[in-house]
Amino acid sequence: MINKKSVELFKTANTLFPGGVNSPVRAFKSVGGTPVFIKRGKGSRIWDADDNEYIDFCCSWGPLILGHANDKVIEKISETIVNGTSFGAPTELENKLAELIISNHDYLEKIRFVSSGTEAVMSAIRLARGVTGKDKIIKFDGCYHGHVDSLLVNAGSGLATFGTSSSAGVPESFANETIVLPLNDIMAVKETLKKYANKIAAIIIEPVPANNGLLLQSKEFLFCLQCLCKTYGVLLIFDEVISGFRIGFSGAAGLYGIKPDIITFGKIIGGGLPVGAYGGSSEIMSNIAPQGNVYQAGTLSGNPVAMAAGLEQLSQCLQPGFYDKINSLCKYFTDSLNEFSLSKNYPFKMFAMGSIFWMAFSTQEEINAASQIDAASMEYFKKLYHFLLEQGIYFGPSGYEVGFISAAHSQADIDEAIVKIKMGLDFVFEK
Ligand SMILES: *Cc1c(COP(=O)(O)O)cnc(C)c1O
Repeated sequence: MINKKSVELFKTANTLFPGGVNSPVRAFKSVGGTPVFIKRGKGSRIWDADDNEYIDFCCSWGPLILGHANDKVIEKISETIVNGTSFGAPTELENKLAELIISNHDYLEKIRFVSSGTEAVMSAIRLARGVTGKDKIIKFDGCYHGHVDSLLVNAGSGLATFGTSSSAGVPESFANETIVLPLNDIMAVKETLKKYANKIAAIIIEPVPANNGLLLQSKEFLFCLQCLCKTYGVLLIFDEVISGFRIGFSGAAGLYGIKPDIITFGKIIGGGLPVGAYGGSSEIMSNIAPQGNVYQAGTLSGNPVAMAAGLEQLSQCLQPGFYDKINSLCKYFTDSLNEFSLSKNYPFKMFAMGSIFWMAFSTQEEINAASQIDAASMEYFKKLYHFLLEQGIYFGPSGYEVGFISAAHSQADIDEAIVKIKMGLDFVFEK
């Protein structure tokens, strides 16, 4: 594979950006080599600066559930943009997107648009603190919630209950407001709430944890979280920045039939443009300024061009059979490869939920906590990654990241990928 232009561009980028990128995982640190610079995308395919073509399973890390440059999304963006890009005043498009979401989502009465998933989570945490008058939050090891200060926190060592920051620049006093617990362990939650409930504002969880492998949780665990939250006067926040509008229109909340107090969104909601949102009942949301006293604002919030893109994308998601189609394609993809891997006795297993999948280099039947992931197995991913890149298959460049099937992926795309991944697995394990 010729990657001359990408190499040159990355060299220049390194003189301009820390690590040559504007978001860390793009730098290929965990797989090694030079990131491919993307020039163009259409449907399931992307092309890099050297004109290599790939089937894309990263899909911009999730937002592109319709694939790249969907004709109608582009049309709506174009129609809207000629009338101006931003006003800092209300527009009808905000109403339209909110109406579409609220009338089709099972658990929302009011929402607020922001510009990223991180911003949505940060605001949701402030709202929970404002509503409860309490400061501490519980998060789970293996869940990612954006780069919010108080959530860049690791579990404390040993019996220490309060977290330690996982990034320089996060004051220990902030990290101390966060308690980190293992996923899928209801006793740990119960005991923590028993001790500290009078200090805890919220429990935040990715109901389908998809940022550190795909750590599927039992419905019972999520259901018990909700019950415990009710018992102890703690708010439950579902961070559905990935799972929202992905695991069906009502996300994981809809799938599991659990109504959290606050839900956060990002990724898919903006049709590929920068949008986030958080929402819940009218009562809870009434605490947000200017109606209430929890302050939160944004110059570009509800941006009309982004609203138009989100509106078109979510409208397409609501077409009958939309989710069935991508979900069954994903199931076919992962079932086929799991069957192959089993027949060859390879330590490789794909996990899936809806149209999200994860390739684990493991023989474990289930992986539902961060501690079950073997860091050494990432060496296999690295080998497979570069083999597949050469073959024209693009994944997010880290073995801890999930992949996505979009509505633009065809049966033929999936079959092509299956053949190449099988070759890749033979290459990785038979050497
Ligand atoms: C991507 C993600 C975020 C952060 O969203 P950004 O738009 O990158 O700020 C937060 N939470 C979850 C669950 C995510 O997947």
